[in-house]
Amino acid sequence: MYNNLKPILESELAAAKENGTYKVERVLESAQGREIKVGRKKYLNFCANNYLGLSGTELLEKASEKAVKKWGFGLASVRFICGTQTVHKDLERAVAGLVGAEDAVLYSSCFMANVGLFQTFFGAEDVIISDELNHASIIDAVRLSKASREIYKHMDMNDLEEKLKASAGKRLRVIATDGVYSMDGDIAPLKEICDLADKYDALVMVDDAHATGVMGKNGGGTPEHCGVVRRVDFITGTFGKALGGAGGAFIATRKEAAEYLRNRSRAYLFSNSLDTAVAGTSLFVINHLKKHPEFRERLWENTKLFRELMKKNGFAVPNAQHPITPIMLGDEKKAVEMAKALFDEGIYVIGFAFPVVPKGKARIRVQISAAHTKEDIESAVEKFTKVGKKFGVV
Ligand SMILES: *Cc1c(COP(=O)(O)O)cnc(C)c1O
Repeated sequence: MYNNLKPILESELAAAKENGTYKVERVLESAQGREIKVGRKKYLNFCANNYLGLSGTELLEKASEKAVKKWGFGLASVRFICGTQTVHKDLERAVAGLVGAEDAVLYSSCFMANVGLFQTFFGAEDVIISDELNHASIIDAVRLSKASREIYKHMDMNDLEEKLKASAGKRLRVIATDGVYSMDGDIAPLKEICDLADKYDALVMVDDAHATGVMGKNGGGTPEHCGVVRRVDFITGTFGKALGGAGGAFIATRKEAAEYLRNRSRAYLFSNSLDTAVAGTSLFVINHLKKHPEFRERLWENTKLFRELMKKNGFAVPNAQHPITPIMLGDEKKAVEMAKALFDEGIYVIGFAFPVVPKGKARIRVQISAAHTKEDIESAVEKFTKVGKKFGVV
């Protein structure tokens, strides 16, 4: 009886509109890129996870055409029946090499990779110890596993140690963390986490969605950045952000763990093979980036320039390094209205307010890309300053 459901949905949606959590989707009339078209107007885009600037490019369009030409559009099969092609095996090897793991297993998305991971390895006799600000997909994946869970305060190593001590009786303990946190761009202290894991015989899982291809000298992600490659037992990552932006994901891990996933992971076994366009293009991207460090170099130059210019112009920019750059405003209404004013000036950024971020920590989040030119960055800062003055922020 839909009549029973309808009023519930209506009142929930009305409440969301009231408290500011209602989501409106902006419809693009162009491909993804440094500049996007919304309606008749063009906007400089500062809110995509398109860190290396590859998404929407002709380069990847060509690579995906080539992949589909060679491997066909789709497989109509799961991996273990007749859905494994050379391109899947090659991509698994390539991504394992990129992040410094022994092997990797492909998933349709990082959300599913996280679900697959906790569900497969951890049961009722185990505990997952999770950072309080972990991504929604980790939180849900942890809930879907039969393991018990402990939450530690964000990046608080003393609290993590307490939770490790308190769970000494468990068969397995695993620490779960984002590599980079998407609201602040802060990087998990993986060295300290791995040291605690060693001390208390725990495993370490890192969700590196915002870092694979981005962080580390060779784009190996936060484990490379923090100098703990091979000390991290499980890395999940996505091809849907820096590495092309279409979708697809992986778990990179030890040899036996990968073998076990291929045998037991329900999210892997009972879901279609990663599509050929994504598999072929992701493989192309990983190989291409090896020969073209300039994508990452440009990203860091742009990030540094934007952070410096914003600080110079009086904005509150926390000290971090990632291209995710929060401009702290505090006031909820200001964050949302300033983002709107910037949009009117041709700069597409998003304002985040409670409950997405803590009360009093409202902000505009800027995401820098290698696709941006120096002029784009300068133009964004100029518009920020103009709008910021109007709102009394600088
Ligand atoms: C974006 C994101 C995901 C989801 O990745 P998909 O491949 O789009 O499912 C998972 N974890 C984190 C930390 C993310 O930022």
